[in-house]
Amino acid sequence: MCGECVKSKCPDRGNTCLDNGSYILNFDHCAECQKREPIKITQRNVEVKDDGEEVISYEHKCTYCCHLIAEHEHTFTIEGEYQEYAMYCLLCGVGNDTISVQPVDPRKETALF
Ligand SMILES: [Zn+2]
Ligand SMILES: [Zn+2]
Ligand SMILES: [Zn+2]
Repeated sequence: MCGECVKSKCPDRGNTCLDNGSYILNFDHCAECQKREPIKITQRNVEVKDDGEEVISYEHKCTYCCHLIAEHEHTFTIEGEYQEYAMYCLLCGVGNDTISVQPVDPRKETALF
């Protein structure tokens, strides 16, 4: 992970938490081969820890030369009545979100996509 393939390192994404895919807008070009090929996802792994925390991790790689662009981590935990999501990735940025486990959350009802 060299940090030179991205436009900005770990940008603040607010409450955006991706558990798949790539934040392609932040991809500049591959520092290794200078190409701007679509990014491929490899090594995607889901790990559930003893305390119920779920960690999804994967790697963003250059399709052309397999250069490692960034390592992505997404965590999911339940805290009381809330589900907490967090993302940390050089490419996709940093974000976290909290969603009520109640069937209807008045704050988020219209925000679901
Ligand atoms: Zn790089
Ligand atoms: Zn490359
Ligand atoms: Zn990422």
